[in-house]
Amino acid sequence: MQHRAGPVPEGSVVDTRYWHVLADGRVQCDVCPRACKLHEGQRGLCFVRGAENGRIKLFSYGRSSGFCIDPIEKKPLNHFLPGSSVLSFGTAGCNLACKFCFAPHTLIATTHGMRRIADLFESCEEKVSRDDGRIGLPASLQVWTRAAKLARVDKVFAHPYSGELVSLKAACCPPVLLTPNHKVFAAHRSNLDDLQPITAGELSEIHYLVIPKRHAGSGVRIDVADALGSLERRTHSPRSGRVPLEHLTETLRSTGNSSQLAAILG
Ligand code: SF4
Repeated sequence: MQHRAGPVPEGSVVDTRYWHVLADGRVQCDVCPRACKLHEGQRGLCFVRGAENGRIKLFSYGRSSGFCIDPIEKKPLNHFLPGSSVLSFGTAGCNLACKFCFAPHTLIATTHGMRRIADLFESCEEKVSRDDGRIGLPASLQVWTRAAKLARVDKVFAHPYSGELVSLKAACCPPVLLTPNHKVFAAHRSNLDDLQPITAGELSEIHYLVIPKRHAGSGVRIDVADALGSLERRTHSPRSGRVPLEHLTETLRSTGNSSQLAAILG
């Protein structure tokens, strides 16, 4: 897999020990079964190891992204100090390739307006194939994150998929189509303080979705005309004349919701 490396904080790049040089000049990382074979400057599937100066380097040394205290029973140890706790920590990077996706027409907030994710993939000049999917490597793509901050995008993925899609429609937001195993942050109505990553297939009407919200002064600008331009517009034609009072009174006495009453009154 190819990947362009961005700037890395000083002190977090270290040499690694488990790799070897291949006959074609690439270097192979031997840390995990992915066995990434990399050209100079490429990153492995895990994103945190890559080829530099003809050797495999780790680019996340000392940059822990999470700490927690775990029960010792969660660790791969056999009857070691049962009932005790252990400090766990780790860096970013993952060598799994989970297949959760959005539908191709999903809109992404980029610095050049709202763009379909399929168009972002197609606009990548460089694309590589990996397993049953393809990876686009954008030259300079930046998107707005949930924290209203800019983030550079290194890869845009495209996977073939056939199966059910879940339509997720939060109040005040357009629906989003995504695979049922795609996780989103939500809380159950019974405990709104307990935000959890929940698969889209498990969500129900009694869940509350976490929706990114812009903070005042964050400097985010969205071109509303551009964002709304592609959406279907529905116009309402004016009523042809006044509704006779008797008709209005009779209609309002009938049972029915506001849509049904509006349909009767025209
Ligand atoms: S995924 Fe990362 S750790 Fe595994 S072989 Fe590739 S570069 Fe090495």
